[in-house]
Amino acid sequence: MKLDVNALRYLSKEDFRVLTAVEMGMRNHEIVPAELVDRIAGLKHGGTYKVLRNLLKNKLVHHDAAKYDGYRLTYLGYDFLAIKTLVNRGVFASVGRQIGVGKESDIFEVATEDGTVLAMKLHRLGRTSFRAVKSKRDYLVHRRSFNWLYLSRLAALKEFAFMKALGDHGFPVPTAVDCNRHCVIMSLVQGYPLVQVKELQNPDDVFDTILGLIVRLAEHGLIHCDFNEFNIMIDDDEKVTVIDFPQMVSVSHRNAQMFFDRDIECIYKFFNKRFNLTSETNEEQNGFETDGEESGRPSFLSVKKVAGSLDKELAASGFTRKEQVEMEKFIEEDSEEHNSSSDDDIDEIGDAVPIDSLKIEDQDHHYEPDGSLASRNSDGPEEQGTSCSVEN
Ligand code: ADP
Ligand code: MG
Repeated sequence: MKLDVNALRYLSKEDFRVLTAVEMGMRNHEIVPAELVDRIAGLKHGGTYKVLRNLLKNKLVHHDAAKYDGYRLTYLGYDFLAIKTLVNRGVFASVGRQIGVGKESDIFEVATEDGTVLAMKLHRLGRTSFRAVKSKRDYLVHRRSFNWLYLSRLAALKEFAFMKALGDHGFPVPTAVDCNRHCVIMSLVQGYPLVQVKELQNPDDVFDTILGLIVRLAEHGLIHCDFNEFNIMIDDDEKVTVIDFPQMVSVSHRNAQMFFDRDIECIYKFFNKRFNLTSETNEEQNGFETDGEESGRPSFLSVKKVAGSLDKELAASGFTRKEQVEMEKFIEEDSEEHNSSSDDDIDEIGDAVPIDSLKIEDQDHHYEPDGSLASRNSDGPEEQGTSCSVEN
């Protein structure tokens, strides 16, 4: 189904109030009993029930009467809450076309009031392997199957914290702008994913730059873990930007060496295949401290020896150790299960994503009167999206 942001225009203050009540109820209910939604929302004269029907019609909530009369948020409902919060904060004013569909995310252009175009990444952790999460969620016993909400929020929080820290340390990453719930707003990278680039003027230089980034990251204490042609953007001047950080780990992770070597291997393989760079040419030129004659590739152990502590700084700021452990567990289990999970899993959480074109424009006109979008703060129940500011 489509993410029809037009629906946002017609949602009233009461609609958002009830939607937020469902979200709050999901902190400790997989399916939130209708009476609880009503109690939290506190609308008069049975108003909640009428609003719930409207939310259901717009696919912002899902009705489940298996055990009792109850509701849960859909991705779309969660998207709307995040979008509304960010629009209220003045982070952006309109949503444009979809520019990416990742394994576990959807990426859109959004525009600020003054017309600056930014990128919005909506995390969908658990989308492709929801069943896997369900069957192996012992580490999230209390969160049960509404953990897609929790995991997606965690992924966004982590991505934002890492992007911000890497940017502050001079790495070529998008500028981290803001984050709420499962949504990260960042600068729009010009150019294309490397996977789409058929020709380069200076493949050797690009190769060295990319390899250098892996090494420099590790020298700062971090490994990307998904460093490949899909997560490297390249512009017309062959300038490289790295994206996609939810799976990053510290160099002290028990599998750090394997992750580091795998990132390096991906780059070697890709450049070899696409640009005919042979191992010999690569290795003669790169000038990194290597593993010795046999592999000739940058050595994890020598990099680790000089590793800085950005990993620890991050653990101390936006993203806690406990959260890191939970994400890593999920990612490991996710990749174990990947082969066995089918596309059907996608539908289990329903109402996922796809989109063509959507606009939330003319916001004064459409949002101000009922306070739902635009600049006013919601006076519904307390907003519970996470603020992701990272102290430096
Ligand atoms: P996933 O984690 O799902 O792989 P990514 O962050 O890698 O998501 O994004 C998926 C795709 O969206 C990328 O390959 C890229 O084409 C596009 N994309 C992501 N972030 C940006 C950005 N800041 N600017 C431009 N395009 C982006
Ligand atoms: Mg990616």
